[in-house]
Amino acid sequence: MCGGGGPLFLELEEVPWKKYQCHACGRIFRSMGRSPRCPDCGSRELGEI
Ligand SMILES: [Zn+2]
Repeated sequence: MCGGGGPLFLELEEVPWKKYQCHACGRIFRSMGRSPRCPDCGSRELGEI
């Protein structure tokens, strides 16, 4: 009986996931590390999208 957003939404938004696209193979993936790498080819040539 309580409205106005629960703690579940806060938890989801606090996760610092970022979305990247690999310049080498074009793969789009999500990562939250400081130096993400492409899961397909291992390249670090990424663009944040
Ligand atoms: Zn790649």
